[in-house]
Amino acid sequence: MENNRIFNFNAGPAALPLPVLKEIQSCFLNFNNTGMSIIETSHRSKSFDIVINSAKKSLEKLLKINSFQKNKTKSKFHILFIQGGASFQFPMIPMNFLSKDNKADYINTGVWSSKAIAQVNIQGKKCNIPASSENKKFSYIPENIKFSDDPAYIHLTSNNTIYGTQFKSFPDTKGIPLIADMSSDILSRPLDMEKFDLIYAGAQKNLGLAGVCLVIIKDTMLQKCNDKLPTMLKYSTYAEKNSMFNTPPCFGIYTISLVLKWIEKEMGTLEKMEQYNIKKAELLYDFIDSTNFYKGTAEKQSRSLMNITFNLPSTELEKKFLAKALKNGLGGLKGHRDAGGLRVSTYNASTIKGIKALIKFMDRFQKDNNQ
Ligand SMILES: *Cc1c(COP(=O)(O)O)cnc(C)c1O
Repeated sequence: MENNRIFNFNAGPAALPLPVLKEIQSCFLNFNNTGMSIIETSHRSKSFDIVINSAKKSLEKLLKINSFQKNKTKSKFHILFIQGGASFQFPMIPMNFLSKDNKADYINTGVWSSKAIAQVNIQGKKCNIPASSENKKFSYIPENIKFSDDPAYIHLTSNNTIYGTQFKSFPDTKGIPLIADMSSDILSRPLDMEKFDLIYAGAQKNLGLAGVCLVIIKDTMLQKCNDKLPTMLKYSTYAEKNSMFNTPPCFGIYTISLVLKWIEKEMGTLEKMEQYNIKKAELLYDFIDSTNFYKGTAEKQSRSLMNITFNLPSTELEKKFLAKALKNGLGGLKGHRDAGGLRVSTYNASTIKGIKALIKFMDRFQKDNNQ
């Protein structure tokens, strides 16, 4: 354990890179020589402008896109920071892009997809479900999906945080706008942004603090927003005001800017980030597969690189495992209440060192408890 910190495998809020936490700590009382902390700084100040624009610049670099900046009008994408977490996007998307006359296709791969679908239904709008993996407890990602005729958009959840599955590639939507909830795997691998019209990600898994949601939207999609919504519910408001129509979640955006700089410095590219994530996940999956004691719950071809879910032979052993793991400095391993079992979240900030410590513990626990 470093600095008395455990290896934290929480699913969200989740571990942040140690250098980021240290930087927040060291700059907290006097941010950039302003004589005040970032949480006491005006969002209309030059120093906050630098923060939000630095976050946008890093995203442009990592995702290889151009976005609208101040005084720059020709661009393809808008990068927005919206409050209310990923869950706030569930109702906001149909509010902006669905009317009573059209419909959307939602691929159902788990709890988060289901929650997104519920928010379309609540509005009395039409939601078609072209594919669902509910029949097998969301343990796989459906393939060869047949979409309905001419939906306003197709929505999917790129990584199923709770059941541990992940889209390895994205369906060809034949020009129909594609929207993705990427809360738990944003920036964990390279992304062809050309394929997406809107992506969103609650920040507390791979980006920073809970409460902020990163939204990246194509300008052509933004043009389709419903104009008759209250100001704070329209994407165009955030695009027009550089996400500062009202006071933005300054500390959250600042944290995101630091996490992004950390990825750039440590990894350089998302290709490298992906290699690191594959290495971590492979170590753990290979170990799980080498035993009869631990059993992975997701189908192999759909396994997530970010949330690794498995069971022990009994719930009693799972309880014992969790308690003992924590005593050994390994925390956040309890599965989601809907899925049960155990879950290891291996987001960008998790380390090979942590995974190796976990495997060592799992091996010992197995030997001590396998009658
Ligand atoms: C965590 C999570 C959410 C919910 O995020 P909130 O910020 O709590 O609203 C939504 N979708 C996915 C895929 C998640 O992992």
